[in-house]
Amino acid sequence: MIAIFNIGCHLSISGGFYALGEAILSLGGNTAQFFTRNPRGGSAKAIDNDDVKKYLSFAKENGIGTLLAHASYTMNLCSGDAKIREFARNTLADDILRMEKIPGQLYNFHPGSHVGQGVEAGIEMISDALNSVLKEDQTTTVLLETMAGKGSEVGGRFEEIREIIDRTELKEKMGVCLDTCHVYDAGYDIVNDLDGVLQKFDDVIGLDRLKAIHINDDKNPLGSHKDRHEKIGEGTIGVEAFTRIINHPRLRQLPFLLETPNELDGYAKEIALLKSIYK
Ligand code: FE
Ligand code: FE
Ligand code: ZN
Repeated sequence: MIAIFNIGCHLSISGGFYALGEAILSLGGNTAQFFTRNPRGGSAKAIDNDDVKKYLSFAKENGIGTLLAHASYTMNLCSGDAKIREFARNTLADDILRMEKIPGQLYNFHPGSHVGQGVEAGIEMISDALNSVLKEDQTTTVLLETMAGKGSEVGGRFEEIREIIDRTELKEKMGVCLDTCHVYDAGYDIVNDLDGVLQKFDDVIGLDRLKAIHINDDKNPLGSHKDRHEKIGEGTIGVEAFTRIINHPRLRQLPFLLETPNELDGYAKEIALLKSIYK
């Protein structure tokens, strides 16, 4: 069986889903990521049912696959401030409710920053929030993003991701999004030991939980905990490593989403580059 390469980039949803679908095709991709609301927080635009309907038939006709929604960066489920935690919980609930209008997609969020009270307390708060928000009948899969381990970020170690999932009751609604820049920054050497890192992921979390890849090069060396994305081929990860990543038998069927510092033309070039090295 020939695998389909699922490739896309981060795009704006401000024109609606149908416009997003057209943008995906114009860039040569077949998937995309979008923010559910302003990335720095704030309110979300109402979802237009006609637009969703139009998008769904367009996506079917043109082979557009699963989309990845990304929560706003300000959504911190493990803040030390109860008000911020409550706001984050409400945002999560509202985002998932809205995602159900376009059933069966993926929703990714940064686990959060504990800012002082410690990683254990942070993990507890994150899983508490998930337990209060996740619903048995939801079709959206919620993904925890692997983080660079900057500051007090939770999710820089696979063990932390595992613990959040362990404490979440509706585990079947949960998955993981691996960000190549973040894991390299966190100290997982996907350049020289991709198999070893994936083995570790499998041992700790389970590769069956891995549902999407953020494909970003890195401005900084292994283990630097900085989280600065770079264009594909211009960073410390490099094209050779990305060739191994996108073609790896355990990864090649997943959706790959670019979050590199690019305008649309730059994204189109990176999508073309990655397609040319996909075997
Ligand atoms: Fe992210
Ligand atoms: Fe990311
Ligand atoms: Zn990042």
